[in-house]
Order: sequence, then structure tokens, then C-alpha cells
Amino acid sequence: MGRIKKKFRHAERKVCFQDSTARTNQAGTAKGAGCNRRAFIRSGVGAAGLLILTPSFGAARSEPPGLRGPAIGVPRGMPGKEGRVVWQHDPQAVKWTGSGYWWQDANTDQARVEQMLSLGLRNLTDAGTDSAAWNALFRHFNRGAAGYTPGESIVIKINLNNAHDPNDNNIDATQHLVLALLKSLIRDAGVPGANLIVYDATYNTTYNRGRIPDRIFDYCRVPGGEFLNVIWMDSYGGNGRTIKVLTGNVLTYAVSNSCGAQIPTLVKNAKYLINMPLLKGHTTAGVTLAAKNHYGTINTGKDHTYIDPLNTSVGNLPRYNPLVDIMGSPEIGGKTLLYIMDALYAALAVGATPVRWTPAPFGNHYPSSILLSLDPVALDSVSYDLLVAAYNDPSQTGKNTTVGDRLPYADNYLHEAALADNPPSGIVYSHGGNRFSSLGVHEHADFTAPTIGQRYQTISLRYNASPVNLGAPSWTAYS
Ligand SMILES: [Zn+2]
Repeated sequence: MGRIKKKFRHAERKVCFQDSTARTNQAGTAKGAGCNRRAFIRSGVGAAGLLILTPSFGAARSEPPGLRGPAIGVPRGMPGKEGRVVWQHDPQAVKWTGSGYWWQDANTDQARVEQMLSLGLRNLTDAGTDSAAWNALFRHFNRGAAGYTPGESIVIKINLNNAHDPNDNNIDATQHLVLALLKSLIRDAGVPGANLIVYDATYNTTYNRGRIPDRIFDYCRVPGGEFLNVIWMDSYGGNGRTIKVLTGNVLTYAVSNSCGAQIPTLVKNAKYLINMPLLKGHTTAGVTLAAKNHYGTINTGKDHTYIDPLNTSVGNLPRYNPLVDIMGSPEIGGKTLLYIMDALYAALAVGATPVRWTPAPFGNHYPSSILLSLDPVALDSVSYDLLVAAYNDPSQTGKNTTVGDRLPYADNYLHEAALADNPPSGIVYSHGGNRFSSLGVHEHADFTAPTIGQRYQTISLRYNASPVNLGAPSWTAYS
């Protein structure tokens, strides 16, 4: 534990929770309102900035012996902000009443989504303006050498895996957040529209998976000008969409499996990638978050044996997971500038309708949140905890037992990724003969907290003072 604790010492915190109703910052001027040092210390976490909670999930937890408890892995991010996950929550951003379709334009507030993204970018970087935030992100990516240079392309992976039918309520990417991101990149970061590629390369003609729907394409072109130059890529083409062209084999896997080794040439040729997944449960993998979003980047082979924690035909846990190879690939994880979790709506299964989350801070409303990070393990760890808490809510009506059976074990890939240099499975994850280093930091909220609301609170309280008072928190800090 001593070694792990030392590694984590420089991660000042992971989750910065900001609730726009509790501390409204409509003007977006109070820089870092959810992440400032004062709030952090006021939370009682301690001046050392070290707060590690004891997760206890009961006997069903997949935490291998010795991993339960302290954070594992090495947090990633900007200096002094490693492992940070910013959680922006604005319940007024989502207005869907449950009738009609969740994705209809009027059911989400564009201005509020843009404000959430703006505050999220500033809170992630401690920058005073959105332009400064982007500049900080680009400079961090380029190791301080340069900001963004026009001509460099940025691919944005959104999740359209359930875009089977334009007239269903299955969850998919929210057009409001896609447009907010494009506006910020074009207007604040100075990226020409022609250098932006929004894509989902999923291909499944039976279900039309990954087909870019008009509701997103048309909506994001309304501003005109540079926005008309943005490239939209899917596996089908037509109607203004660019059809994907695949590379040769560019991905490698530590264990032979059915995942494809090809990616779209536009992804290969891009300098930067923004990974914008959904917060969603999954009937095979338990969860589908930032890592699995790239099953919509690789070509058609998508292994579903190793990612199924209950499929013992490929061995018992802890075991190999191809998501770790994808997360560590120089072509995917290695070119990721930023991770943005679209948790405006969330679903507890694939092909499912968004469900309401009952306890505070959600209050029987959709999560209406976005989460930002530079640490893919930390982001998926927080997202995993949110889904587990939502699923375990006794009043939750959107349960799918196939997902529920897998959830307690679905973080196997996070253990493997956090400890990619020496994973619990013993697998050697590598690229070009170089063994991966840790891909980020993993830990859990306190799931011994007696109420679901308190469990949500521990997720936000782990690293920062939550502005939402949910009653006495229940957490235990390692010392
Ligand atoms: Zn875990």
C-alpha cells in the first residue's frame, strides 16, 4: 500500500462536483468554483490532498485481494491536477418529461449545456477562459511545446451504437453536447471546421448501428459558416456524411481475440482525439464507458468474450481485457486530448431508454451531467460507481438483471488498465515491444454508505467538498 499511496500523493483529487443549482454560476465567471483549493480543504480531506476511501462491495466485488481499498495505478493529467474528474451537474439542462422522444431539440437546454461544458473545461484546467482552457489542454498534450496549429485534425468519437431507428427512445449521443463542443472548438480554440471530424465507425446493417442521424447532423450545421465544413464520418456515407475508409492493421492485442486491428484513416491521420462516450450499462460487459466507446472505432470484429466478466470460457477474473490494449494504443488512447462523458441522459443497459435517478442530487430526474477528465481510468471509475449506485437504488425501475449480474465484476478492465505495467491477470500489455505503463488511477466510492444518496455523495466527496448537502457523508479515509 505504501507504494501505491506514494504514487497517488500528487493527485490532488479526482472528482470535482459542481451543481449549478446549489452554486449557480450562470455567467460562468467564477473560475473553478467546484474545484478550488479552499473547498477541497474545507471538506476535511486534509492538506496533503490525499483521500482514499475504503470500497466495500460485499463478497461479490471483483476487487482482487490486495487491491481492495487503496487507489491503484498512477493518475494522469496536467501537473498538479493528475487524476482529476470534473463533474458538472445542472438539472435544468435536461427538461424531458418522459413523453415524446428524449432527443427532441426542445428537451435539452442548449445554453445550459454550453455553460456546463464551459465550466467543465475551466474546472479541469483551472483556466479563466474557455480559450485558455483549450490552450492549456493542447499545450499539455504537446508537452508544453505548442498549442493548437490550424491544419491539425481532431477526431471526435461519439456513441451512436443504438441509433437503430430515428424514432425510438434508445440512448445515443446528445446533439446539444456535440454542438456545444463544436462551438467551443471553433470559436474558443480556433479550430477550423474542416479540421474537425465527428464520427462513429460502428457498422451493423441489421441495426444501422453507428449511422449518424439527421437530428445530430442537421442540428450541428445550423450555425452555418465553419460549422458547414465539419466532417461527419460513419460506416454508411450519403447525405453529407463521409464514409469511413479503414487502415491496415494498426492495433495490437496482448491476447488473440476477435477485436479488429484496423481503424478509420481519418482517425489514424488525426493528431488529436476527443472521446465523448455515454454513461450506460451493458448486457455483456456490464458497463460501456470511455474505453468501450472505441468498439465504435475499430473495424467490425469486436470481442465480446473477454469483456464479459461472467464468461468463464476465457478464464476466471482477474483476466485479460482487450479494452486495455485499445486504451493504451498510441493510435487511440495515445492521441486522446480530452475525455467528456455525456451523462445528460444515461441508461442502465444497451438499447435502453434513459431512466430517472431518484435520490439527491438527482431528485427523480435524469442525471443531467457531464464529466470531464484527462485520466481515462479515473473517468470510467467514477462513471462506473455512478452506474452501480443508480442500479442499486431500490426505487430504480430501469433495471436489467443481465447488466446487474455483471456490474459487480465489470471493473476488471479498470484494474488491468490502472496496473497495466503489472496487471492482476499477469498479462503483458505492450506496444512496439514496450510494456504499457499505468493508464490511470482507479478506486471506488464508499459503497457501505447506507443510502444511495450518500453513495452518490461519497463519489463527489472523495476528493472535494460537494456543494450539495445530502446529510452526513459516510466515508473512511486511509491515513
Ligand atoms: Zn475496482
